[in-house]
Amino acid sequence: RRAAFARLRGAEPVTKDGHRMTVMVNAGLRDDVAAIELTGADGIGLFRTEFQFLVSATLPQRERQQRLYRDVLDAAGDKPVVFRTVDIGGDKALPYLDHDENSEEENPAMGWRALRLALDREALMKAQARALLEAGAGRVLNVMFPMVSEPWEFDEALELFEVQRNWLSDRGRKLPTEVRFGVMLEVPALAETLDMILPKLDFLSIGTNDLTQFLFAADRAHPKLALRYDWLSPAILRFIRRVQTQAGAAGVPVAVCGEMGGRPLEAMALLGLGIERLSITPAAVGSIKAMVRSLDRDALMAEMNGWLATPPRSLRPLLTRWAEAHGV
Ligand code: PEP
Ligand code: MG
Repeated sequence: RRAAFARLRGAEPVTKDGHRMTVMVNAGLRDDVAAIELTGADGIGLFRTEFQFLVSATLPQRERQQRLYRDVLDAAGDKPVVFRTVDIGGDKALPYLDHDENSEEENPAMGWRALRLALDREALMKAQARALLEAGAGRVLNVMFPMVSEPWEFDEALELFEVQRNWLSDRGRKLPTEVRFGVMLEVPALAETLDMILPKLDFLSIGTNDLTQFLFAADRAHPKLALRYDWLSPAILRFIRRVQTQAGAAGVPVAVCGEMGGRPLEAMALLGLGIERLSITPAAVGSIKAMVRSLDRDALMAEMNGWLATPPRSLRPLLTRWAEAHGV
């Protein structure tokens, strides 16, 4: 089976009824970029920049960040890379942050983390913005902000990047040819204000790991809850369909970058909701491409719309049977 997937390296993820999907990989280290070549993926849909911070004994200085981002862009060649600004804090605590600001939290997953921390620690965010803008000089730079809960948080992050871009431009430095900005949708509240934020976005990426934890109020790492709520439950599927429909109507491309997209049945369900871009763990690219290539997407979409009108507790049995009956 592994050999069969390896043969799919050069194969495009096109559905049986002719829709071209985008299959990218999640990454976090310099060496992860080789996965694009190895799997034949369309790029890196999520580069977790906090990895460098987590493996360092001291806060990585701007020059070190910039070197990493430039190496990653060089290695990716003409394939796009989406850099996510640091998602540190909470459970990803850093020993070298001030003790006071790194203190124990009751609920780290919904604590002072990601963009919340970055906007409060402005020097940290400024350094990362400069590092990204300089590394992206002469090419397209994609920047994505994690844990955006309200549109104004995106506005503040954008403003910070604009100030850095102007600073570099005033000094005659070479800039990216284009900077594209997006957000991760992983806090359900953002879905309620999509109309306010969509006009400002170049892309949006649904982080199903955090999204499901917040949608169900269920810790994503709790062993007793792991089997309780299904990724294929009506609440998640309807939620994602709503976001996809609304963003699609506004012309904003939507990706899914959580673990859900790396499982064939779950990924099939996502495609059936209209999702056309996935960013997944490299090991899953072969099996997901195989699923895509055997899928009649429009037929599944029609079927899922029917199922979601009066859904059972989980769509898993229906999707499993449909996949078997249709040779997916
Ligand atoms: C997610 O929350 O789905 C996600 C992709 O981000 P992370 O797993 O890094 O929190
Ligand atoms: Mg997340």
